[in-house]
Amino acid sequence: MTRVFVALGANLEDPKTQLDNATAALSALALGNSLKVSPYYRSAPMGDVVQPDYVNAVASFETDLAPLALLDALQQIENTQGRVRKERWGPRTLDLDLLLYGDEIIDEPRLKVPHYGMKERSFVLVPLAAIAPDLILPCKTPLASLISENILAELQQLGIDH
Ligand code: ATP
Ligand code: CA
Ligand code: CA
Repeated sequence: MTRVFVALGANLEDPKTQLDNATAALSALALGNSLKVSPYYRSAPMGDVVQPDYVNAVASFETDLAPLALLDALQQIENTQGRVRKERWGPRTLDLDLLLYGDEIIDEPRLKVPHYGMKERSFVLVPLAAIAPDLILPCKTPLASLISENILAELQQLGIDH
């Protein structure tokens, strides 16, 4: 049995309902009553594609599924909710990224865990902290220090030369 963390994101076709439906599907994967879901957060899209804002959350649960079987299950939920794969970082009804699979480091063609983008994405780190404030990543970095680094980096980008 392993505790896993999954990032949820949606920006098409009533994103809040997409996250509600995804949460219900994840609860069917979760062992017992192990599912935790963060509050939902609004975020600006990544990249240059003009598209609606996102609604993001993070869910955590215990599972007996092996990592690739879990990825299959997550992609099945995306497909059930009408995910169409087009351009990178384009709009989608539902995106489910496997952030953490216990303390494991996984490097398969289809699956890299921890998720490569999570350390730089506030819209992942903030909901993650809402359900696991004391989390320490497999690289031994505390989640709280990643969040402080991100806030500093974001504030520094607001600086103006004079
Ligand atoms: P990003 O990965 O930058 O958040 P994205 O979520 O839009 O972008 P997708 O098109 O959803 O990217 O996924 C592309 C591929 O990433 C998937 O087909 C999957 O095999 C692979 N992948 C690798 N690691 C993971 C992971 N930890 N969670 C989910 N998918 C992963
Ligand atoms: Ca993603
Ligand atoms: Ca994805």
